[in-house]
Amino acid sequence: MKKYVGKSVYSGIAIGKINLLNKVDHEIKRNHVDDSVAEIKRFEAAKLEATKQLQELYQRAVKEVGEANAAIFEVHELMLEDLDFLDSIHNIIENQKVNAEYAVATTGDNLSAVFAMMEDEYMRERAADIKDVSERIIGILSNKATDGFVLKEPSIIVADDLTPSETVQLDKEKVLAFVTVHGSIHSHTAILARMMNIPAIVGVSLEISDAIVAKIGIVNGNTGEFFIEPDDTTLSAMEKVKEEELHKKELLQKVKGKENITLDGTKVNLFANIGNLSDLASVFQNDAGGIGLFRSEFLYLEKTTYPTEEEQFMVYKKVAETMAGKKVIIRTLDIGADKQASYFDMEKEENPAMGYRAIRICLDRIDVFKTQLRALFRASAFGNIAIMYPMIISTEEVDQIKEIADEVKTELISANIKIGAVEQGIMIETPAAVMISDLLAPKVDFFSIGTNDLTQYTLAIDRQNQKLDNIYNPHHTAILRMIKMVVENGHKAGIWVGICGELGADITLTEEFLRMGVDELSVAPPYILLLRDKIRKVNLKF
Ligand code: PEP
Ligand code: MG
Repeated sequence: MKKYVGKSVYSGIAIGKINLLNKVDHEIKRNHVDDSVAEIKRFEAAKLEATKQLQELYQRAVKEVGEANAAIFEVHELMLEDLDFLDSIHNIIENQKVNAEYAVATTGDNLSAVFAMMEDEYMRERAADIKDVSERIIGILSNKATDGFVLKEPSIIVADDLTPSETVQLDKEKVLAFVTVHGSIHSHTAILARMMNIPAIVGVSLEISDAIVAKIGIVNGNTGEFFIEPDDTTLSAMEKVKEEELHKKELLQKVKGKENITLDGTKVNLFANIGNLSDLASVFQNDAGGIGLFRSEFLYLEKTTYPTEEEQFMVYKKVAETMAGKKVIIRTLDIGADKQASYFDMEKEENPAMGYRAIRICLDRIDVFKTQLRALFRASAFGNIAIMYPMIISTEEVDQIKEIADEVKTELISANIKIGAVEQGIMIETPAAVMISDLLAPKVDFFSIGTNDLTQYTLAIDRQNQKLDNIYNPHHTAILRMIKMVVENGHKAGIWVGICGELGADITLTEEFLRMGVDELSVAPPYILLLRDKIRKVNLKF
């Protein structure tokens, strides 16, 4: 048995086979092969397997995100049949007598460079797809345990690090737990693990090697422990903890259907944070009163090109319809920093967390912003949609946003397209927004405090920096004072104030938040019942 200890991202016990999420090695070795015919056969077999994977991915994506969003996998499948692509690979293997990995990598690099130089924007965007397809084939050829995204059986995923876009593409049904060597507990990958209800640990210093694949592992998300080939005593101890946790979860079921009300009669809204349509099941299972934060950028991260207005409309409409009149707060695109989509072509920045991200991109790329707003306002006719804008630092930004939103609404109305009554609010996640919350409040319908970024910017600690996890302290007096100030300023202007950062789920602070007058807590679905149970035991009279 081997034991490693990392930092816990999300609690729970997972027991199962280990699988590696290998990233494709960009330094592909060029090896001589004597038998180029056999090498071409090896390539053809890998291509067949890639086609199979893409078909599976397509089927799954159709179920999770609908046909329009899944279409990208069909595009990739077509690329596998592209004659330029195939001829080039065959030629390189035959003429240079080299390995298939090298031929595919070279072809991928060459063709994507050609596409990247094209004038037509659509063609330029295909450059990333060519790379993706090539990496999939190389992954299969080099016999990595997974192709990056397709898992054959439920597994504990071990990786060097995971980006949010890699995480959203994993088949949640088959991920028992995450273990990564790098990564911070405040990253978006960590947030995704919580939303997916998956035990996760980061900062585990283990050597990633194929030798651990298929071995039995145990992840203890409560303590940050990771065991490989556990001995019988550890295995049965962990099985017992797992059972106890299940029992605790079952006990929590008794608060299902009950109100979020304190012993003295104070009511609070308990909403869920989601990133995808597939999270809706968990919203219902955990009895959330609405959606307090739909991180819409995950729709963008799942794709290799901009989601169209129609694609987005279908997703927002589906969420609104499914929630059947309950509030659905959709946050506009918050891309940048750790959430990168290659097709945005963003320049490398020294300080991405303080850089070109979120509303700054939207107010610069008005076309991208308007496409999303049109989809949102159109979908608002099908339910109770509210729109929330991230990373606000000034009243001028809010004025500009409102002007653009009004333009979009006018355009839709004059085209006879029905729209609903949409609340528009902002995230308070920068110290600047806190300090001018009295000036911002009269301009919006609600505030939602993003404690993840608010902690990062207030304490000057990059939330991605795992070295600083120990001093990233959202309980800092500065943060708690800021939350209180925002609630007071919001209430003075007659608007409601919620918390949608991870701190909202911290039951050691629930009573304090309620005493401050926080009106809504929006948390990852698995925390809802725990919080409801806590709220129902609080008495604010004393
Ligand atoms: C936050 O910053 O607290 C927040 C909710 O947004 P995100 O974590 O997606 O940046
Ligand atoms: Mg944020």
